[in-house]
Amino acid sequence: MQELVYFIEGDGTGPEIWAAAKPVLDAAVEKSYGQDRRIEWRELLAGEKALAETGELLPKETLTSLQNAKLAIKGPLSTPVGGGFRSLNVTLRQVLDLYACIRPVKHYQGIESPVKHPERVDMVIFRENTEDLYTGIEFAADTPESRKLIKFLRDEMGVNLSENMALGIKPMSKNGSQRLIRKAIQYALDKKRDSVALMHKGNIMKYTEGAFREWGYELAAEEFADSCVAEKDLPAGTLKEAGKVIIKDRIADYLFQAVLTRASEFSVIAAPNLNGDYISDALAAQVGGLGIAPGVNMSDSLAFFEATHGTAPKMAGKNSANPSSVILSGAMLLEHLGWDEAAGRIHQAMNTVLAGRKVTTDLARLMDNATTVGCKEFGELLGAAL
Ligand code: NAD
Repeated sequence: MQELVYFIEGDGTGPEIWAAAKPVLDAAVEKSYGQDRRIEWRELLAGEKALAETGELLPKETLTSLQNAKLAIKGPLSTPVGGGFRSLNVTLRQVLDLYACIRPVKHYQGIESPVKHPERVDMVIFRENTEDLYTGIEFAADTPESRKLIKFLRDEMGVNLSENMALGIKPMSKNGSQRLIRKAIQYALDKKRDSVALMHKGNIMKYTEGAFREWGYELAAEEFADSCVAEKDLPAGTLKEAGKVIIKDRIADYLFQAVLTRASEFSVIAAPNLNGDYISDALAAQVGGLGIAPGVNMSDSLAFFEATHGTAPKMAGKNSANPSSVILSGAMLLEHLGWDEAAGRIHQAMNTVLAGRKVTTDLARLMDNATTVGCKEFGELLGAAL
């Protein structure tokens, strides 16, 4: 069996972390399945490499290939200052309709954490990626646009706002929310996770975040009635129903407390864009692993895995970056294919290498008695530990 996976090396540290990562992914597959399974890697150009070779940051050929692809993985891309794009990453997400950003968060032994029991964190966040305040519909204070909108709201909608306010618009749709929540529930079912928590601030933002909650329960009842149960419908005094995924909801501020104090009660979290952004980074910090967190952005046809950090320009070319984020994103890709044995090998190897305390400089800072190794050497240690 051969799977075609497109890859974009990325800018800055991208080429070196990719060079360290690819052999680990190939070796994990080979060690698990011999010659029976293989990834066929095909490079696509984007970012600085694309600009140098084609004169464009995002060549049409790259976009066309991605529009027809099922699987891709990328290193970080820098945001060109003064270029034609707000951000290449945002452009890719919009053009490819990558509406679900999925980030698993769990602790690796040996990495220092600011909490007492980081091992209790084993969560997967599904963040809506296309709507909410991120649509960028904003009007600066004291501009003709904001004054016009304030006048409309005042005259036509009976909303009293002072004239010098700045305004932002928070659009959220039923379809946009439900397609994200559907993915989260399906994931929980596929991976045998016990709950999906809908994260919202619906007590205040009733028709946007409150609706996210309502639409979530509605979807679960309509499409997953046989396999899910709403927390409120559980018999009194019980927390589970055998074989069913519990659908619950938590107000965002409470959830930030609860993931610290009752981490083991949360498994899959589905969140609108802004909440999802905040909770992803807060949870990553909780396990001490901001720099190694993996992720994927998904549409209905494409799963586009990516290192979640940026290009770290100061580290570029120095063989000092940590390749773990892109390697663990590769492990997610293998899991997505159902190649769980190969993915498991990578997680196991990560544990072994971290226990050996030979790590890249960013992790060495978080560990006692660690020896610093280069990006390439860290990849080789992982490869040897598979
Ligand atoms: P950054 O993630 O590059 O750096 C933040 C911090 O993390 C720095 O201290 C950096 O040294 C460290 N770091 C990042 N990657 C590391 C690695 N692999 N190993 C060890 N340490 C690492 O964020 P930034 O400085 O805000 O952004 C730099 C560039 O990256 C910008 O052009 C930005 O637009 C881009 N960026 C891209 C993505 C992406 O492609 N998904 C994400 C974030 C930022």
